[in-house]
Amino acid sequence: MPDKPTPPVALTIAGSDSGGGAGIQADLKTFHAHHVHGLSVIAAITSQNTRGVTAVHPVPLVHIRSQLDAVFDDFPIAAVKTGMLGNARTVQLVASALRKRKPAWLVVDPVMISTSGSRLLDEDAIDALVNELIPLADVLTPNLPEAEALLGRPLRTARQMADAGTDLLAMGSAGVLLKGGHGRGSEVTDRYFDDRGVVEIRHARLPREGHGTGCTLASAIAAELALGRAPRSAVRRAATYVHRALERGYRPGGGAAYVLEH
Ligand code: PLP
Repeated sequence: MPDKPTPPVALTIAGSDSGGGAGIQADLKTFHAHHVHGLSVIAAITSQNTRGVTAVHPVPLVHIRSQLDAVFDDFPIAAVKTGMLGNARTVQLVASALRKRKPAWLVVDPVMISTSGSRLLDEDAIDALVNELIPLADVLTPNLPEAEALLGRPLRTARQMADAGTDLLAMGSAGVLLKGGHGRGSEVTDRYFDDRGVVEIRHARLPREGHGTGCTLASAIAAELALGRAPRSAVRRAATYVHRALERGYRPGGGAAYVLEH
């Protein structure tokens, strides 16, 4: 029997969600749904279900490094997505590996706090994110609270959002997707900023809260980039993917948020 053609390969460097809704688990489901072979480097282990996070265990640096070496030494990695990294030393280690390995595409999801309110990144790690990881990114995907934390100022008006795009781009990412899900109104407006300007992506706001939407969006962008799509197209398609997956979402446990159907 002839070999199947090899799909493109994408890597997620992120945290594990034992509840299967967010983190590494969401990323691998997303890669699979896009017919991309998914690799994972687990940077932190969360004890988590649909009701919340009960514990976070950062994976020791030596084991993050060995996972990174294992995957980069073997696979032709087309795109990388980073999610929950937990602390400054992990951010520095991951940035240093990416500087050395130079993947063609890097999507950075600056995960800080879960929807359920748990800290997923130490406060003192924000500097490392800004100084070391974000300058390597092709697409940075902050939600509004994350953008506020990165910039150190509140974002409420349309003018403040436009300025935020400019200032986040100045941190060195080639593109910035400022996600509007935490805003108000019947529509969600995501804004994608790059050196050509800004594009707005609008979707009707679904009357439900999602769990793992941010992780899924960033990994869908990475999958689309791995498949050869240009960033603007990758971002648009990924936003549609998340919207549909939330529409078809379900609640597997007792928590209120919906898990995405990939
Ligand atoms: N748990 C892990 C391991 C994550 O990486 C994330 C993603 O950002 C979350 C939880 C938070 O997911 P959400 O805020 O969508 O509930």
